[in-house]
This record gives sequence, C-alpha cells and structure tokens, in this order.
Amino acid sequence: MPIELAPPAAARDSLLGNFIAGSWSNDGTDERVADLDPASGEPLIEVVRSPSRLATEALAVAAEAQQHWRRRSPLERASVISSAASLLRERSEQIAETMSREEGKPLPEARGEVGRAAEVLDVVAGYAHKPTGEVFPRRRQEQWLLTLSSPLGVVVVIAPWNFPLLIPAWKVAPALLAGNSVVLKPAETTPLTAAHLVQAFADAGLPPGALNLVLGRGSELGPALLQAPATAVSFTGSNNTGRELASRAVEQHMKFQLELGGSNPVLVLADADLDLTVREVVAGATSSSGQKCTATRRVYVEEGVVENFTEQLRAALAPLRLGPGIDAATDVGPLVSSEAKADFDGAVAEVEKVADVHAFGTQPEQGFFVRPRLALGGDPDHPLFREEIFGPMAALFAVADFEEGIARCNDTPFGLSASLFSSNLTHALAFADGIDAGMIHVNSQTTGAEPHIPFGGFKQSSSFSRELGRHGIEFFSQVKTVYLEGT
Ligand code: NAD
Repeated sequence: MPIELAPPAAARDSLLGNFIAGSWSNDGTDERVADLDPASGEPLIEVVRSPSRLATEALAVAAEAQQHWRRRSPLERASVISSAASLLRERSEQIAETMSREEGKPLPEARGEVGRAAEVLDVVAGYAHKPTGEVFPRRRQEQWLLTLSSPLGVVVVIAPWNFPLLIPAWKVAPALLAGNSVVLKPAETTPLTAAHLVQAFADAGLPPGALNLVLGRGSELGPALLQAPATAVSFTGSNNTGRELASRAVEQHMKFQLELGGSNPVLVLADADLDLTVREVVAGATSSSGQKCTATRRVYVEEGVVENFTEQLRAALAPLRLGPGIDAATDVGPLVSSEAKADFDGAVAEVEKVADVHAFGTQPEQGFFVRPRLALGGDPDHPLFREEIFGPMAALFAVADFEEGIARCNDTPFGLSASLFSSNLTHALAFADGIDAGMIHVNSQTTGAEPHIPFGGFKQSSSFSRELGRHGIEFFSQVKTVYLEGT
C-alpha cells in the first residue's frame, strides 16, 4: 500500500531516501524511522534518517550545480518552474491523497493546497518577465550606472509539516528563479509530500543538484546545513527553532528569513453579519485541525451581541465530524503526530484551570485526534491566551467597544494576522491601520495566502522580510551595482 503514496522513482522496498545530485538514494544511511498515518498511528512507509554528513554532501552538490543553473536565463529557469506547476496539477489526486494520509488534513483541503502550490509556481515563473535592475542618472555621457540582481548561491529551505507542499513550493520556486540552488529539509512527519514536490521539479527538467532533499531530524541536520557553502536559510516553523537558527545564521553570516507562530485575533462588532462571522470563525479555528500559523485563536465580541454570537458559534461547532482526512465525511482530521496531540492536550489542561472549555465532535478511538475546543469565561489578560496553541482551540471574550477590541487584539507577542467582522467602513479602515499584524482581513477568516501578495507578520511572527509575490523573490537575490565607463 505505502508505495503508491510516493512518487514512483522515490521509494524502493517501502523506503523513502534522499534526493541528492538528481537521484533517489539511501546510500550512507543506516537509521530508519516510520512515517505514520496520524489517523491510525500506523506506518505508511519507512524513511531514512540521514547523518549530518549527507547534509554537508548535499550542500557541496548544490554549490556545484548552482554554477551552471545561475547561467541559465531567467526565462529558461521559469520554464522549468512552469512545467513543474503543470506536473503538480496532473498529479494532484495522488499528491493530495498522500498529503491527507501523511499529514491528516481533509482531502478537499489537501487538493486545495496542491492547486495553490501550482498557482504559486506559475506566479513565480511570471516574474521572469519583470525587470530585475535599475538604470540611474549618470554624471558623464560615457558613464552608465546600473544595478543587476544576483543570486545568493546555495539556499537552505527548512519547512514545517502543516503545509507540507505549499510552503516548500513557495520558498523553493523563487529561490530557483533567482538562480540559486536549494537544499530542502522537510519536516520529519511529511517527507512523502515533499518528495512529490522534488520529483515534479526533477521531471520538469531541473538539472541534477539544483534541488536536493535531505531527510532526517532537524536538530541533527540543522547545524550541518547552516554552514558554508550555504549562503541563506529560509525557515518556517516554531519560534524556538527559529531563534536558534537565526543566531546560527548570524554567526555564519548567512541571510535568513523566518516565518514563525501566531495568536491571531478576530474582533466582532455589533453590526457584523453574524452568520458569516460564525462560518468564518469556525473555518479559521478548525480547518487543518487548527494547525495553521494564521488560525483563529482569540475572538473578541462586542457586548451587545456576545450572547447571541456564542450560542450560534457553539451550534456551528457541535456537528463537526472528526475522522481520517481521506474520508469524505470528515470535517476535522487528526493532529499530525502523537507529540502534537500531547502538546495540545497539555495546553487544554492548562486552559481548563482558568476558563470553561467546551469540546465538540466525537473522539475517534484510534489516531492522534483531538476534539475542537472553545474556551469561555477566561480572563483575557491571562498569559495563556496570548500564546500560540497549535490545534483546534479558540477563546472567546466580550469587549465593551471597538477601542477595547483593538487593544485586546494587539495584546500578544505575535502579529501574524487579524480579522474584523463589521459593516462599518470607518472601523474597517481604523482596524487595518491600528492592528500590529502583517495581514489584516475584514469580513473573512484570519487564514489565507494569495500567491501574488506578501505573506508575513509583525513582532515575533516573522523576521523582517515577506514571502510570496515580488517580496518573496527579493529575499533570494542580492543587488549588484555596476559602474560602466566608456573608453
Ligand atoms: P518546528 O520548528 O518544530 O519545525 C520546523 C522545521 O524545523 C522542521 O523541518 C524541523 O525538522 C526543523 N527543525 C527543528 N529543529 C531544528 C534545528 N535545531 N535546526 C534546524 N531545523 C530544525 O515547527 P513545526 O512544529 O514543524 O511547525 C509548526 C510551527 O510553524 C508553528 O509554530 C506555526 O505557527 C509555524 N508556522 C508558521 C508559518 C508562518 O508563515 N508564519 C506557517 C506555518 C507554520
């Protein structure tokens, strides 16, 4: 059974290996770990756990390949990226099923992610037609002053499991377009989905070594990957890992980009369309089992409608069906791993000490499932409500008015996304202006990432760059200034 979930070339004897220098191999690896189906806890496939020297080898291979790849024209590089987009679309069903079985998200969400990843690749390829430098006013007629865009070299991409195709795709594609080579280290829990992305690029004609995949423990491979010849690292994951990587990147003089956690608020004003708001809050808090950096965590509701809204929200959460992602009846899949479930259960136990926590849905017997939770009656000043809890949990509080709502929304170390529900344009504009977050929604859920517009946060949610669109490509390039004198 497991083999069908991997790209045909990638898994031999139910074992997924590394992709280095253009071929799949388990050479140099002795240790194996099981890639589990979180809906059952059963293994899908065995995966190599690479020693750190394979990370070093992959960097050397990438450095060699980059010397050739950077000389291809941007249009040639874009054509490979476009072909990879087409292959993702052609393979959508197989990739979505792999993702759903491996990560746990419902199949429609997994299909959506494959489509979005293909769209990101198309958008990135389109940037090959845009200008990449500037011409400046000169001092003399014989002089030209201009800038060129240069690649960074070898880029390390370290990805999380919650968007196991989309996030690697939105980092790898712009890195390649800009003329870099890449070593990708996916999360331990989602190597099969990452293998599909790598296979799509290989089948699209990407030269060997331009994109390499190394599988294993982040804590073991990270130190070996953040070294020369790598020149940059793009990371999405937890704040603790991000902090560790950032200090290592500074030591190694590597450019770095971090996308980290969130504790994303929703403010509901009395003039909101409550039916719409309830739908969006349920989706924001429970899609992907709440395992999104942009998931809805805190809901502040104006006093006049809080009772009505709470009742409607509870009624909408009650019928949610928990089950395997590949089951068409499932609304909420399992968490990704037993560790994620233990963390979530621990966080719920803490919140239960300070609020009334209501649970919804029926707990399946097997797998890493957790019931969606709604915390009511807690003290909004409690530190627990400012932090990230990674799973389907939201806390609801009453606020006196718009001003208190804004202050409450901003009361967190994070600043990724925030939503306002209201029909008042003045409040919408004041919300967009007053919230300290990178992404603001009015009358839509806190989640979402369009492929052509910037993605990222304020405060502890990001380092100081953005992903996707033009900004996403800029991170992977550096400016070269040219003084050109005629003789
Ligand atoms: P994580 O930090 O545990 O792991 C992320 C990646 O880092 C994995 O590939 C892991 O193997 C690797 N890693 C772990 N330790 C490492 C080390 N010492 N050196 C190098 N690499 C190491 O995070 P996770 O649990 O996979 O992802 C969930 C987190 O990601 C949440 O906090 C979520 O909010 C965040 N996230 C943020 C965004 C965003 O864009 N802001 C998007 C998705 C997820």
